Amino acid sequence: MIKTTHVSIQCRECGHAEFEQPDNVQDDDFVKCHDCGFQIMLADLKEVGVEQVKEIVIPEVKKEIEKMLKKAFRGRLK
Ligand SMILES: [Zn+2]
Repeated sequence: MIKTTHVSIQCRECGHAEFEQPDNVQDDDFVKCHDCGFQIMLADLKEVGVEQVKEIVIPEVKKEIEKMLKKAFRGRLK
């Protein structure tokens, strides 16, 4: 699941996925990793996130789609 209301991108230092962020965080604001305290600008964090989404989410989505397609085909064959 991609969360839009919460930063769910992994810290590139420790892999933790929770960041402290100010209210109404802007792209040039810094967010801070809850775990190791690593600070990163939101715009940079988003870029890291895009890379992670490409690596993690897309294969998973593909798997889900393949599963759905298999089910759909099975249903038709009966
Ligand atoms: Zn961290």
